Amino acid sequence: MDTFIQTTPFFSSEHRALAGRLAQFSEREIEARAGDDERETDEALRGYVLLLAENDLLKHAVARPGQPFDLRSFCIIRETLSYSSSLADLAFVMQGLGTYAISLAATEHVRDFWLARAAIGKAIAAFALTEPEAGSDVAALKTTARREDDSYIIDGRKRFISNAGVADFYTVFARTGTREDGRAEISAFIVSARMPGFSVAERTEMIAPHPIGELEFKSCKVPAEDMIGKPGDGLRLSLQTLDMFRASVGAAACGMARRALDESLLYARSRQQFGKPLAGHQLIQEKLADMATELDAARLLVIAPLTRRTLASGPRPGKPARRNSSQLKPPAGSSIKRCRFTAARVWYGALWSNACTVMRALCASMKALPKSKSSSLPINS
Ligand SMILES: Cc1cc2nc3c(=O)[nH]c(=O)nc-3n(C[C@H](O)[C@H](O)[C@H](O)COP(=O)(O)OP(=O)(O)OC[C@H]3O[C@@H](n4cnc5c(N)ncnc54)[C@H](O)[C@@H]3O)c2cc1C
Repeated sequence: MDTFIQTTPFFSSEHRALAGRLAQFSEREIEARAGDDERETDEALRGYVLLLAENDLLKHAVARPGQPFDLRSFCIIRETLSYSSSLADLAFVMQGLGTYAISLAATEHVRDFWLARAAIGKAIAAFALTEPEAGSDVAALKTTARREDDSYIIDGRKRFISNAGVADFYTVFARTGTREDGRAEISAFIVSARMPGFSVAERTEMIAPHPIGELEFKSCKVPAEDMIGKPGDGLRLSLQTLDMFRASVGAAACGMARRALDESLLYARSRQQFGKPLAGHQLIQEKLADMATELDAARLLVIAPLTRRTLASGPRPGKPARRNSSQLKPPAGSSIKRCRFTAARVWYGALWSNACTVMRALCASMKALPKSKSSSLPINS
């Protein structure tokens, strides 16, 4: 049994209660469904969103305006879900990523409409920032939104958008003009998937179950009241969203690594070689111990800065919080990578069986790689 959250001083009694309840929920509900993730990915994702809503978990993803966002609860949930299913984790995280800007700046009735629907699983959210020519350099985006009476007309293309084709609405970032200093004026909009002129141009196949694809906007008309904040607020809102959620990527990776460790332990105890279980061989014991150490290190690297950040900055992260969320990702990522490769060395031949859970966990933790080409800095995984 995993005792990290129960015994680490960075969590409150509420976090510990949440972790205990969640572990049971995940074992009972998510484990039972995870086998279908690859076959019916879109349907499985919709099912997870409803399941998470029924179990009152989406309230931890959808921010409540004016109230602090509890990133530690968010991370506990991401780690637990990704232990069993990276798709269930995606279902959870996107409800947050796709609604955070709305919670910060949308007009009250628009905001309340979408947040309420997202929190009960009635509307699936997505976050549409990346474009073919605007990846890390988000300010280079080319999608435009021009004002026409009481509407904005959006034209352009987005790529690598998680939940493309499954989402009911998208938080979309587009260029509405040029600032006095020559930089792009970027604004944010809520675009319902039903809007004429909106379409999913292509789905991108990934090596782990993950609905993702390209969006096309062709004279897509959205009401001006669906702009989030004021013209020009978009870049700030997109970066605030990434600052808030980036830290949780490490938590999801820890869940996958913990699964790889648990499965490796089980396997090493059951597989006999040279007359005794693999786990009886000292070099395998060393590998298992290395994995456990890397995992503990990664979990501490994720949670310690988060605790400092929560105590220091409340609901909206300031500069130190931003630095923390960027700092923790590389070392936590390296620990997880080492943990993953060590797991592969415990399993060897058996790793390549499709039915093997550890293989699923390893693929999920590498899902930043589309099948045909490599990519970088995924927003949510
Ligand atoms: C699984 C997955 C899910 C995603 N989901 C979403 C989503 O829901 N919504 C969304 O909007 N986007 C999403 N993305 C897109 C993702 O956020 C982008 O991949 C990311 O922003 C990087 O952009 P890029 O892939 O175009 O890489 P590029 O920006 O082209 O970068 C390529 C490489 O160059 C490096 N690099 C870039 N600039 C510099 C520099 N100045 N100095 C040094 N090195 C540099 C990068 O670190 C990277 O290693 C997703 C991506 C993946 C893989």
